[in-house]
Amino acid sequence: MIIENSASSSNKKLLGSDVKTLTTKRRAINVLKGIFAVLPLTLALPVDALQVKVTPTNPKLGDTLSVEINLDNPGNGTNPTVASGKNTYPAFEMAPNKYRAFVPTTPLEKAGTRTLRVAGDGQVQNLAVNVLNRKFPIQHITLPPGKAGVDATEYELKRVAAFKALQTPQKYWNGVFLKPNAGRMSTNYGVRRYYNGTFAKDYYHRGLDYAGAAGSPVIAPAAGRVALVGRVSQGFRIHGNVVGIDHGQGVTSIFMHLSRINVKEGDFVKAGQLIGAVGSTGAATGPHLHWGLYVNGQSVDPTPWRTKVVN
Ligand SMILES: [Zn+2]
Repeated sequence: MIIENSASSSNKKLLGSDVKTLTTKRRAINVLKGIFAVLPLTLALPVDALQVKVTPTNPKLGDTLSVEINLDNPGNGTNPTVASGKNTYPAFEMAPNKYRAFVPTTPLEKAGTRTLRVAGDGQVQNLAVNVLNRKFPIQHITLPPGKAGVDATEYELKRVAAFKALQTPQKYWNGVFLKPNAGRMSTNYGVRRYYNGTFAKDYYHRGLDYAGAAGSPVIAPAAGRVALVGRVSQGFRIHGNVVGIDHGQGVTSIFMHLSRINVKEGDFVKAGQLIGAVGSTGAATGPHLHWGLYVNGQSVDPTPWRTKVVN
């Protein structure tokens, strides 16, 4: 009550002195009403709101979430970020005022709603995204008693971890990713395993296997910079002879068990360019190509990148 009274008395005071201002304001309001009458509802937001779009619209575990951010008032020099759980992912500029961050999802996560915290232009927006469940095939592996697997070397782990952590601002790829080998796909992404009846809770097949013949060509599925070349002779016991391509903006590809390598670190490769040949080096029971696609350090399903353009 008290508030209303004081408000009306201050309005009375305004009437005498500020008629001109009030008229101008009213005109501005009428103009705004006109705009909101014809434009879609999404634009009826506060002037400085972040506009965020997440694709795909019905993601499932293993999918890459693409978070597009439009800023009305950029220019403070810092790119927006997207946080999910404990991780924060950088957004890179796609066009003036338009940024994009990739958020990986994996079979190790629980399906359901997660909150993406989008920060940019001094604002924060929380977005709920529902990630659908997906049934991943299960393999039962029996290891003979006393037979331990091959251990990776420290050097190998260090080099591969540094490669997967790359977040290069440039975007090198264009269009859909190509099939890196002509062989049939023998093991799909995300397969889970039991070893001697015990579920391996941290294991999932981190890529796609192609059963190409030994010596058959391996090509770059998309353009990028060769950021990793490793050989058995250097201690790559698990990966074998390996090539890693940095596609930029947190997207990397790794190619394992090669018999031959046709590129060197620092080379820029085009989509379809020969990078090596299928082999069975490292921890492989027979000739095949393992292609792992990583987004901000996490192994995601390459299949959506093969079928849908992410530009
Ligand atoms: Zn594999």
